[in-house]
Amino acid sequence: MTAVNLLDFDLDALTAWCEQLGEKRFRAVQLFRWIHQRGASDFEQMSDLAKSLRSKLADQAVVQPLPVVSEHRSADGTIKWLFDVGDGNAVESVYIPEDDRGTLCVSSQAGCAVGCRFCSTGHQGFSRNLSTGEILAQLWYAEHTLRREQGTAAGDRVITNVVMMGMGEPLQNYGALVPALRVMLDDHGYGLSRRRVTVSSSGVVPMMDRLRDDLPVALAVSLHAGDDALRDVLVPLNRKYPLAELLGACQRYLTRAPRDFITFEYCMLDGVNDSDTQARALLDLVGPRGPVGRVPCKFNLIPFNPFPASGLKRSPQARVQAFAQILIDGGLVTTVRKTRGDDIDAACGQLAGEVQDRTRAHERMTRAPVRVVRGAASAGPVPVDPAASA
Ligand code: SF4
Repeated sequence: MTAVNLLDFDLDALTAWCEQLGEKRFRAVQLFRWIHQRGASDFEQMSDLAKSLRSKLADQAVVQPLPVVSEHRSADGTIKWLFDVGDGNAVESVYIPEDDRGTLCVSSQAGCAVGCRFCSTGHQGFSRNLSTGEILAQLWYAEHTLRREQGTAAGDRVITNVVMMGMGEPLQNYGALVPALRVMLDDHGYGLSRRRVTVSSSGVVPMMDRLRDDLPVALAVSLHAGDDALRDVLVPLNRKYPLAELLGACQRYLTRAPRDFITFEYCMLDGVNDSDTQARALLDLVGPRGPVGRVPCKFNLIPFNPFPASGLKRSPQARVQAFAQILIDGGLVTTVRKTRGDDIDAACGQLAGEVQDRTRAHERMTRAPVRVVRGAASAGPVPVDPAASA
């Protein structure tokens, strides 16, 4: 008999599984707390469970962590772990400590099928979805490893925020994502508030609607362009769900979101999407005369982290500031993300590491770059915004 991995279960699923063993819900709660609040994987440690239950658990279940392939620690305190998920696949998680919070960036897929031009994971191609247990194993390992290292008092957390911004498009792995989010939010699990758990999406519109109905946590949307012609090139999913549809989904999401704004992520690419014209296009897009009217939002400008296959460059700092100023002058709350973990390749968009390219996506993207022609996307050299010199 194959042992069940208890990290795959949210509390309801664990309760149902325990009931099959003839155990009541409160036993499932105890077990759940041992696993997620105390980081236990050895059933013998679980001293308030009856010996008979511990023996059934030992026969039929495991708490299966992911093997750690490597760990890198940055001078700024950022930690990057590479986890083995089998068959030559690996995923990365990044811990980012700040004065008032500890954020863990979690992966949802091995690789990614969306293929954003500026993203090293996108260049790697798609291998497979992670299971709920594999998503949670990243948080379980990081939280309890850091607690042990830091000697954190019982009941205190090290990780206060989770962002689903690692490798993969989380909304293309919805079935595994939602139970993992439930465990993060559960008071018997990690007890995080919905405001402190963020799902970042490139804009899978139907799944944004489902998440709003099922479990509306904070939402970040990878925007990266102010018009469809450029976004079709940078985020190919835009050809399926263009900006007007995406913004409509954002408006609907806001009716149930734990925050009263959407965070738009915008990776600043030199000469591609960083012109004054693009900044003004963003103001028009989310302003009162945009396709769905005013969208309450914040912009997070992300300095691009170049990697050789991208053929793209980071926007100069002065350009980023000028771009930000146009958004601010237009009334949009805008921040420029501090880069963290640069020295260990843990910064945004660098989460491919030494992971194998199983689909030759890198080769495809290098050989068939795309040119922006206003109003259309076509094969040709690396994208250039004609308004870049503005
Ligand atoms: S930015 Fe996100 S959605 Fe786009 S390719 Fe990278 S991991 Fe996938």
